[in-house]
Amino acid sequence: MIDEKKIRRDFPILSRSTGGKPLTYLDSAATSLKPQCVIDKLNDYYTKYTANIFRGIYKISETATAEYERARRKVAEFIGVANADEVVFTRNTSESLNLIAYSWARKALKPGDHIVVPVMEHHSNFVPWQQMGKEFGWHIDIWRNNEQGLLDIKDLDTLITRRTKLLTITSVSNVLGTINPITAIVKKVKAINPHCLVVVDAAQAVPHMPVDVKVWNADFVAFSSHKMLGPTGVGVLWGRYELFERMTPFLYGGEMIQEVREDMSLFKHTPHKYEAGTPHIAGVIGLGAAVDYLAAIGMTAVRNHEEKIVSYAMKCLRNVVGLTMYGPTNLEQKGGVIAFTLKAAHAHDVSQILDDDNVCIRSGNHCAMPLHLSMNIHATARASFYIYTTKSDIDALVTGLEKVITVFT
Ligand code: PMP
Repeated sequence: MIDEKKIRRDFPILSRSTGGKPLTYLDSAATSLKPQCVIDKLNDYYTKYTANIFRGIYKISETATAEYERARRKVAEFIGVANADEVVFTRNTSESLNLIAYSWARKALKPGDHIVVPVMEHHSNFVPWQQMGKEFGWHIDIWRNNEQGLLDIKDLDTLITRRTKLLTITSVSNVLGTINPITAIVKKVKAINPHCLVVVDAAQAVPHMPVDVKVWNADFVAFSSHKMLGPTGVGVLWGRYELFERMTPFLYGGEMIQEVREDMSLFKHTPHKYEAGTPHIAGVIGLGAAVDYLAAIGMTAVRNHEEKIVSYAMKCLRNVVGLTMYGPTNLEQKGGVIAFTLKAAHAHDVSQILDDDNVCIRSGNHCAMPLHLSMNIHATARASFYIYTTKSDIDALVTGLEKVITVFT
């Protein structure tokens, strides 16, 4: 069980008010708030041991290198990975997915090969495949969900063929909240075509529920630090070591080099091969602190808390006149995200009026335009939750929505 009061005290931003109104933050799917321990860890790097990593043979550089590599081991352990060298640091989920497209798919796929992508994907896991597909002649097959926002695993019988080289799928939809059954999906894909790789966009999963990538048995898993209490500007890409070693680097430059001659270069091994240039050292170390913080709470407790909040929010929102919610209603299949529309007002107006009371939600297509078009909606409002979300936050949302209805009717 989560002690909400204690947790909220760890987030300094939650004690700030605007115009005398406390902050009601319901946009954690976009980015999470940061606890003091993460802020302190960033500060420590900048005030106590600022130095570049791997390069210096002096104490503060060695401390920075040790902290950076310690963070890698923490992240690996957090997602059930024994070999920390399989964890590559990037800038964000988008970059992690682009890395796969450029370093693996560009070489592995031939013109006419197929890629399966659900329509519910975030643009980060849609546009790279679409654009590079156009350039290199790959065929993109769209996997459509039903009206409840659920995928039918039986569809894979026709979607996955001998020519399918990749299924790339989100673990949790950032709009519908759908939790896709990744383990079962990977099992089915590999049974039909063992040569088809599975990439998982875990941006909305790793921060919110226990994730063991070995249980999923996928080939690559991508996520972002900033959605799991860590700093912005750091992403993670986990992949199978032998796969990473067979691939060519994504970015070339400093730190990823073994040897350079005028006419050739040799690269370091994974993960350094994929971390060209000076990385976001403080950010990675800060992510390590975020992982410690989440691990101390326990990811089962995080998930249980969000289920409780989603259940309460759905109950309250059902009573708001003219409100339609999207995505699964079964709690077991729903993450901490609720997208909705109000008959009385456009999502942008809803968001703006809520902001008058310092209630922060998202409005628009949430970087999932193909999904919105498939539902025949231009925009939804979205409330999303995390460990610091309370029932009072939901009450503030509902009060704000009643106000919107009064203004617009
Ligand atoms: N995938 C999903 C499911 C997301 O929710 C997001 C962020 N909204 C992303 C990818 C992209 O993450 P980032 O902006 O950190 O690259």
